[in-house]
Amino acid sequence: MSTDCLFCSIVAGDIPAEVVSETEHTIAFRDIAPQAPTHVLVIPRRHEPDVASLAEADPEATVDLIRHTKKVADEQGTGSYRLVFNTGADAFQTVFHCHGHVLSGRQLTWPPG
Ligand code: 5GP
Ligand code: ZN
Repeated sequence: MSTDCLFCSIVAGDIPAEVVSETEHTIAFRDIAPQAPTHVLVIPRRHEPDVASLAEADPEATVDLIRHTKKVADEQGTGSYRLVFNTGADAFQTVFHCHGHVLSGRQLTWPPG
C-alpha cells in the first residue's frame, strides 16, 4: 500500500467507492466521472503504478485482473466493450495505481483521442 495513493485508500475502505465486484486480487468500482453508460475501473489490491509493473511483480494478479474485466463487461455492459489502460502522463494517466477502464453501453468511436 502506498500511503498517498487514492486507489490504495479505496482498497483500504478509507475512501468510499461504488464497488460492483471483488476477487482475491482485484476490486471493481464505478468511475466517479463516467465516460460511457458503463464505466468501471478494475484495479489490483496491491499498489503497482501501471499494468506492465503489475505483470512483472504479480502475474497471477494480472491474469485475475483481466478475467475480472471480462466478468464486469459481461455483467454490466452490452457484450461489446473497451478495456483501456492509460499508461503515463501523456496517455492521460492521472492515478498512478494500475487500473483498467471497462467502457461499454454506447457506440464507441475509433481512433480514441
Ligand atoms: P486515468 O486518467 O488515470 O486513466 O483514470 C483515473 C480515473 O479515476 C478517471 O477516470 C477518474 O474519473 C477516476 N477517479 C478519480 N478520482 C476518483 C475517485 O475518487 N473515485 C472514483 N470512483 N473514481 C475516481
Ligand atoms: Zn495505490
